[in-house]
Amino acid sequence: MVKPFASSADLAEKAETLEVLAGGVYALTAEGDPNVGAIEGEDFLVAFEARATPVMARRWLDKLREHTGKPVKFLVLSHYHAVRVLGAAAFDAANIVAHEQTRVLIAERGEADWKSERDRMPRLFTGEESIPGLTWPTVTFTDRMTIDLGGGRGDLVLQYCGRGHTAGDIVAWLPQQRILFAGDLVEAQAALYTGDAFHSDWSSSTLDAVAAFGAEALIGGRGAVVRGRSDVDAAIAQTRAFLTSMLEHTRAVHARGGTPREAFEAAHAALAPTFGQWPIFEHCMPFNVQRLWDELDGVDWPHIWTAERDREVWAAMQR
Ligand SMILES: [Zn+2]
Repeated sequence: MVKPFASSADLAEKAETLEVLAGGVYALTAEGDPNVGAIEGEDFLVAFEARATPVMARRWLDKLREHTGKPVKFLVLSHYHAVRVLGAAAFDAANIVAHEQTRVLIAERGEADWKSERDRMPRLFTGEESIPGLTWPTVTFTDRMTIDLGGGRGDLVLQYCGRGHTAGDIVAWLPQQRILFAGDLVEAQAALYTGDAFHSDWSSSTLDAVAAFGAEALIGGRGAVVRGRSDVDAAIAQTRAFLTSMLEHTRAVHARGGTPREAFEAAHAALAPTFGQWPIFEHCMPFNVQRLWDELDGVDWPHIWTAERDREVWAAMQR
């Protein structure tokens, strides 16, 4: 049987759940679809992630507006991927904040990534005609940026933790409430997408930096809200195990002069018993192993995924 390409056959709507994690801290999760969040300042909002289209973003904003009518002063983009950024126009945000490398990646590959992600995950692009064009950050930084929330609400710290899911991921940390929005650097029982990743850095120093926050609650890129230190640590450990297992099995095939397809089969067989039932596992693995193979080949800067390259790699990895 031929596997449907990526998530192209995953057309069932997911249930969305808005949770209030602390006073003025919101997360919307969706059964493994990309998560979004918002943090209230004294007289403004910080939104975290924009979804794939303004139509999809408005669904989230409609739910958020049942809790607060404050204007969005900052829209924070954790990284450049289309499903995280192309809904930005719906927020009317005064500032769009991202890592400097995210701006570089949007300029270099934003157009290609839009088409690639739309074909891989068409359901997330409901209302694609509402996208006015690429999303451009208006404020960028390289290490850390702090937003004073005002009114005794403390700070929101935006932090770069090293190369990981992409070259420019940032997390949003609330030190007073000990809540971490981790973007796609951590997934909560959802498969990792590593097609633009730096596996070696991500699985070591970058996840160490994420763990060092000591969060009491974590919102990953996909999956449920994680509560309590032990469960937060477990989510980070599961993310690391996904990466180290892919590294181990792909590296072994690479070292003996095998092929990417053999590495895919080895990594798939090794990971499936633990991670195979998690959302988007089958979708991600071919792209993940191809990028990891390139990394082991010494390709530091990930190749650009285009709709055409997606299909070629997908076909090459199928049995
Ligand atoms: Zn991503």
